[in-house]
Amino acid sequence: MSNEQLDTLRDQLDEINLKMLELINERGKIVKEIGQVKRKSGINRFDPVRERKMLDLLAANNEGPFETGTIQHLFKQIFKASLELQEDDHRKALLVSRKKQADDTVVEVKGAKIGGSEPILVAGPCSVESYDQVKAVADNHTAHGLKLLRGGAFKPRTSPYDFQGLGVEGLEILKRIGDENNLGVISEIVDPKDIPLATKYVDVIQIGARNMQNFELLKAAGSVDHPVLLKRGMSATIEEFILAAEYIVSKGNTKVILCERGIRTYEKATRNTLDISSVPILKQETHLPVLVDVTHSTGRKDIIPQTAKAALAIGADGVMVEVHPDPAVALSDAGQQLNIDQFNDFLDTLKGSGLLKNKVSV
Ligand code: PEP
Ligand code: MN
Repeated sequence: MSNEQLDTLRDQLDEINLKMLELINERGKIVKEIGQVKRKSGINRFDPVRERKMLDLLAANNEGPFETGTIQHLFKQIFKASLELQEDDHRKALLVSRKKQADDTVVEVKGAKIGGSEPILVAGPCSVESYDQVKAVADNHTAHGLKLLRGGAFKPRTSPYDFQGLGVEGLEILKRIGDENNLGVISEIVDPKDIPLATKYVDVIQIGARNMQNFELLKAAGSVDHPVLLKRGMSATIEEFILAAEYIVSKGNTKVILCERGIRTYEKATRNTLDISSVPILKQETHLPVLVDVTHSTGRKDIIPQTAKAALAIGADGVMVEVHPDPAVALSDAGQQLNIDQFNDFLDTLKGSGLLKNKVSV
């Protein structure tokens, strides 16, 4: 084949490409009109029956050389892109996306600003076990100017025979101590129907790793006007984590805090593997505050200070850590909770690092 012939054929292809471009865009305009008609008449955008008819029409008329499967695959891409054209512009970017909102979301809890210019510390026992146990931690918080106290009342445990938490009695203890010590209290809720009740007792509703994709729970948490701390699922990708947050925000509740708590890998030296790189990614992709739970991500007391420093240095808005007056007899996570002296040393280390003063921006 001469160069001349090749050029002619290529010219023909270019011409066809331009015609196809024109046709695809013409098709796009019609699709948008259909979208408007459907919206006005309240008809669903998705119509699999119509799509099947279009694919069948192509199959019946295909004379090759492309196989029908190939043609249908190509057209399905066009159909998919067309559906996206019908979406409202605001739906193209997620509500939690930085593209949607450039400024950081700051969640205020009893005067503490989560996602503000200073990193915050959320600390407390794994489980609420008694008034005295939580009070000891809370008084230490007050002595050190800390504002946020965590404690589990509903404990999602791997074994049904392990301590399941005090339930509402635990929430009552938290509420009482939160009021007495003027602390914001954070506790996990596991049942969608308990969400309205929880708003009466806690300042922040926690959704735990095991429930990150409990969509009914996410929707229930999105339907109240109360801060929510959402933990990353132990085998969730960053995208799934972001979409879980979107579930909450899409229901109207914008006060969402993300918490990286490690993911499950083959590594056994730590309880989970802290995905530290998720922090700057979440900060870039979303406008939500991001915390790092250094206790559940490591399961090891000996590396909590280093891990917390790494989290703050990489741009986290704060750190969550478990502290118990007597971890050896704790009813859950006995091995990984700091005692109060260890916690205070940890606090000194963090204060000494200067990382608690100003947030590192990414
Ligand atoms: C917790 O913070 O009490 C907890 C159970 O953590 P996670 O959901 O991250 O395992
Ligand atoms: Mn725990």
